[in-house]
Amino acid sequence: MRPILPFLLLALCWTSPLSAAALHFHAAPTDLSAKAVETLARSSVKQVEHFFGAPFPRAIDFRLAPDRAAFDAAFPPALGMGKTQCWMVGMGIADLMVVLSPSDWKAEACDHDPADQQELQRLIAHELTHVFHGQNNPHGDFAGEDDLAWFIEGVAVLASGQLTDARVAQVRAAIAAGSAPAKLDDVWSGKLKYGFAGSLASYVDRRWGRATTRRLLAAASNAEALAMLGTTEPALLADWQKAAR
Ligand SMILES: [Zn+2]
Repeated sequence: MRPILPFLLLALCWTSPLSAAALHFHAAPTDLSAKAVETLARSSVKQVEHFFGAPFPRAIDFRLAPDRAAFDAAFPPALGMGKTQCWMVGMGIADLMVVLSPSDWKAEACDHDPADQQELQRLIAHELTHVFHGQNNPHGDFAGEDDLAWFIEGVAVLASGQLTDARVAQVRAAIAAGSAPAKLDDVWSGKLKYGFAGSLASYVDRRWGRATTRRLLAAASNAEALAMLGTTEPALLADWQKAAR
């Protein structure tokens, strides 16, 4: 009977090429949201791996901060985040993912509804996409990559499911009204930034394919990203607006 176990393990490996990465989940023992957040985190890991068709390269360090002070203290000082604003409830880089506990949102957050489980799930998947991205990028904390915000945020909006029909409709209306961004630097800005960035990442994903979206994770600048796509900034924006109209 001895050879059966290795055979079974081999069979599991073959039938399940994507295995959810090790998720190290840290929460205060008294946090009433911890169990629900951990469950959403584990399903979101699978969602992100399914989107990219690849496992997380490394383990995920997930911290659920019980209050704003703990949230701010969780960031490495090198990131220079300081005191965060009320709308910010999550952050993800290669080696760290922090979420402000939904138990604290009523007291110390704005623009977020702790009762909306779908919003929370998408938010967790968004930050986990940043973790996956950071683990596949030369700069795990995206240092010096501000010009790539359109893609860093856009791919997180896309993979998390935050590119909702309502946002797609808002982007279409903005393009029709001539108020869509004319520069990549302006994509992740203003009231419609989630829609603009998600829509542009979605266009790139459809036109060049998921394998290219994955390769773009390694880009450290717009110049590198545009070279991978074989296009220019004005052409990319014009083609996107034509397709998204
Ligand atoms: Zn983000």
